[in-house]
Amino acid sequence: MEELKIKRPYARRKFCRFCADKSLVIDYKRPEILRQFTTERGKIMPRRITGTCAKHQRQLANQVKIARIMALMPFTTAVLK
Ligand SMILES: [Zn+2]
Repeated sequence: MEELKIKRPYARRKFCRFCADKSLVIDYKRPEILRQFTTERGKIMPRRITGTCAKHQRQLANQVKIARIMALMPFTTAVLK
């Protein structure tokens, strides 16, 4: 009974993308990167899903918050009607 591993559609291998790729900078001026770590509704994805390490997750959260204030990212996405 070794089949307890649940296959997830993304982040199947847990590793911090910012540690792995030094060119990937966490910057509020790069919302296209930050957006990959937020849900479509604008929420920051939890670390257990993205695999981001504590250090980078903290930076990410800060930069997302700055980006929101700078109006580069949404706080929440309004439901389109
Ligand atoms: Zn990291």
